[in-house]
Amino acid sequence: MKLLLLKIKLHLKPKSIMANEACPNTSACPIFQGFLDAKYVSVYKNLYCLAGEEGMKKCKRYIIKTLAGKCPPNLLPNSTKTIEEILESIEKTV
Ligand code: SF4
Repeated sequence: MKLLLLKIKLHLKPKSIMANEACPNTSACPIFQGFLDAKYVSVYKNLYCLAGEEGMKKCKRYIIKTLAGKCPPNLLPNSTKTIEEILESIEKTV
């Protein structure tokens, strides 16, 4: 668990991302691209995608993409699953 937290901390320090910059995953992210109902997309964008580094650090999609290099298409930014659970489910599908 400590190792995983260290990995998360290390990987979630995008030095080039300013406070209000957009997430670097927006062009390929189904959430940002409008996969859901527009009212939910707007909320997610404001809370995560367009909220700079602090917003991205809270997004489960961003964390998983950073750690695993990929993200399940149906994972929500505020998924109730833990990072460990999501990573395990990715490993099982490989
Ligand atoms: S949902 Fe998460 S990964 Fe997707 S663009 Fe927004 S912040 Fe980035």
